[in-house]
Amino acid sequence: MAMRGKPKTNSKKIGDRELSPATLMMGLGYDPVLSEGSLKPPIFLTSTFAFESAAAGKRFFEHITGKREGPADGLVYSRFNGPNQEILEDRLAVWDGADDSLVFSSGMSAIATLLLALVGQNDVIVHSGPLYAATETLIARILSRFGVSFVDFPAGASRDDIDVILARAQALASQKGGKVALVYLESPANPTNALVDVEAVRAARDTAFPGEQKPAIAIDNTFLGPLWQQPLKQGAELVIYSLTKYAGGHSDLVAGGVSGDQRLLDIIRPMRNTIGTICDPNTAWMLLRSLETLELRMRRAGENALKVCTFLRDHPKVEGLGYLGFISDARQKDIFDRHCTGAGSTFSLFIKGGEAESFRFLDALQIAKLAVSLGGTETLASHPAAMTHLSVPDERKKALGITDNLVRVSIGIEDPDDLIADFAQALDAV
Ligand SMILES: *Cc1c(COP(=O)(O)O)cnc(C)c1O
Repeated sequence: MAMRGKPKTNSKKIGDRELSPATLMMGLGYDPVLSEGSLKPPIFLTSTFAFESAAAGKRFFEHITGKREGPADGLVYSRFNGPNQEILEDRLAVWDGADDSLVFSSGMSAIATLLLALVGQNDVIVHSGPLYAATETLIARILSRFGVSFVDFPAGASRDDIDVILARAQALASQKGGKVALVYLESPANPTNALVDVEAVRAARDTAFPGEQKPAIAIDNTFLGPLWQQPLKQGAELVIYSLTKYAGGHSDLVAGGVSGDQRLLDIIRPMRNTIGTICDPNTAWMLLRSLETLELRMRRAGENALKVCTFLRDHPKVEGLGYLGFISDARQKDIFDRHCTGAGSTFSLFIKGGEAESFRFLDALQIAKLAVSLGGTETLASHPAAMTHLSVPDERKKALGITDNLVRVSIGIEDPDDLIADFAQALDAV
């Protein structure tokens, strides 16, 4: 028989003390009393939820259809939400100090749902470049079928450059009879690791759009978030995650998330309800487990990356490193110091030579696995020119700095000295 009791409030504070995310991951949003005392949330495998009364059902639907504002007070149907996903959303939001979060079946379904919700016909998207390849495809090749245009700027652009780009986007939008609907950022950019000055973007956006109708600023924070960068603090309004990466962290699931301003999430949520891009309960449960160790995992991976990069930096077979811990460009370093609290564990390694030397290095690795993706417990290495960016035209590859001697590395949480030994023997084999 179910134990009934008053749900715990799960306070985010003890007295005046704000509890840190690492603490809140073990309890926030879940009350064992409501689930037979089960310490951990059960996985709620159900497609639909029973209403206590017809009036309750009506009330829940008023919320789903937007007839009533404020938090939902009951669940309706699993395409809209479920208990596991709701707990996950409460906990994910904590890391960015966001009003709320929405979770999705993949990073790309999060991005697609956000774009479909915020962008209309004839609108213009302003975005930093490069973007994750599938995001570029979605904006340039798919949304363009519906009359959406984009104007892009290089990730490292200055305030002056961004002002010019926003003016160009405004001119294009008024010529098309649409609006500038969204400023979409990705920082650090993949695979260049170039950082976007989010503070400058926010100031430029606020100057260019002094009225009520401002395009929202959304940023893909997959590479450094949520531990090492929290762009809501620099003025972004939505942060996007491929939870597949550091947040999931074990290379065993695919999911996405969007955290940020309630006003914007209230526009995105009905689109997710309509098209069904929410993640499933089992994945949500696995992410709850992942978030309990997020800080431990990311901190260890970051420490390992610093040790490995320190070894690689002066190695005679290494031509260079694209690692945020060793930025030489003064402007990029300034952005890093203002925006980031850690250098992450994903970096570019330039081997002396070309594709043949890089392949020999990759094939010789014994601990590091050859796979795309990043942010898992295990170290991964891949060759963007021959793999993730194979279909990118040569000219664009050159502009992005995707050379034949570029190896992408994501450092995991193994013993750092074992990793260094592996990289050392693989470089010897080049
Ligand atoms: C992996 C990734 C995505 C896409 O996420 P999926 O979970 O694979 O759909 C988007 N942006 C960045 C920066 C990524 O690394």
